[in-house]
Amino acid sequence: MRRVVVLGASGSIGQQALSLLAAYPDRFRLVGLSIHRQIDKILPWLSRLNPEWVAITDPESLHRASCSGLGFPLINKAELHERLETQPIDIVLNAIVGATGFWASWHTLRNPAPRLALANKETLVFGGQWLVNHRHRIIPVDSEHSALFQCLSGEQTSHVEKLILTASGGPFRGKKTNDLEQVAPEQALAHPVWRMGTRITIDSATLMNKALELIEAHWLFDIPPEQIEVWVHPQCIVHSLVLFRDGTLKAQLSLPDMRLPILYALSYPERLPFSEGRWQPFVSISNLAFEPVDEVTFPALRFAKEALRIGGAAPALLNAADEVAVDAFLRGQIPFLDIFRCLEWSLQQPEAHTHPDSPQTLEVIEQAFRLKVRKQFLETSHAGRK
Ligand code: MG
Repeated sequence: MRRVVVLGASGSIGQQALSLLAAYPDRFRLVGLSIHRQIDKILPWLSRLNPEWVAITDPESLHRASCSGLGFPLINKAELHERLETQPIDIVLNAIVGATGFWASWHTLRNPAPRLALANKETLVFGGQWLVNHRHRIIPVDSEHSALFQCLSGEQTSHVEKLILTASGGPFRGKKTNDLEQVAPEQALAHPVWRMGTRITIDSATLMNKALELIEAHWLFDIPPEQIEVWVHPQCIVHSLVLFRDGTLKAQLSLPDMRLPILYALSYPERLPFSEGRWQPFVSISNLAFEPVDEVTFPALRFAKEALRIGGAAPALLNAADEVAVDAFLRGQIPFLDIFRCLEWSLQQPEAHTHPDSPQTLEVIEQAFRLKVRKQFLETSHAGRK
């Protein structure tokens, strides 16, 4: 019986993870879970999965839940971090959204026992340099990295010529810069294949999601950025590929269902039976297409490689700029293409060229940088169009 903690339990990945824990009660025991605010999302699961504790990281929501008496021991963020470091846990699934998820990963890896099932992209984008020594304990949950992990299983990194991440291309595949000038948030939120949270959906439309995945792949598999490629593959059946030095190409194929990589990360190295992921091979794989990324219209991959080349704070600040810009776009404050302008601008700032000696120092720089993005980039961009 594996003792599992689910962080970010109210989000899309968190909810699917809870459904899997409920489906395999003889395999997994839910030790604890965390949410930020959305208590209603976990209420149906509490009596079913009976966790030992519930962490609520938003102080006001925690206060309200304490007053109403949830019937489970409630803890705050600091107590959560302490438990991650000290409790006997087999697997921590980190599905927190955003850069704040780094700290949960950090505390988990300070505990020598648990494996980290990583669905929080920003963990490695923000602080990959401080976690690489623990990479053997990280099992990726993102579908592309799970695919790479599976392709690399039993292989040697030195035999890899290229990692190839696949991308759906998002809702604006085939569009040119002119077409993107006027797009509204609703158009960018209409992802053709995956149903996900709002930020990651916009990041799929800009390909920034793939850019963050490129940075993640670099840290996870210890492969330099120039050996990582992205292919657009609209069917989302081939989740990624590895090209080896003998010319062999290995790929992982499955239906686009996030429960598969989640279950794989929870059960690894075992594969558990899962009947809902069944597909009809001749229907699904008779028509697979691949094409290169249009990096002129979608320059995010270039920014990711540039951020890795600069090193230090650059990847974290690129991500911070993206979070702020996406939020502003969703609020209707900036046009779609300003997201790219903001990313490019962020790498030109002196902060991006600093090399903080700890994640704590980086966090201070990153927080200040978010304010700067709002004040200097967003305000001037707004004023410039008036
Ligand atoms: Mg992905």
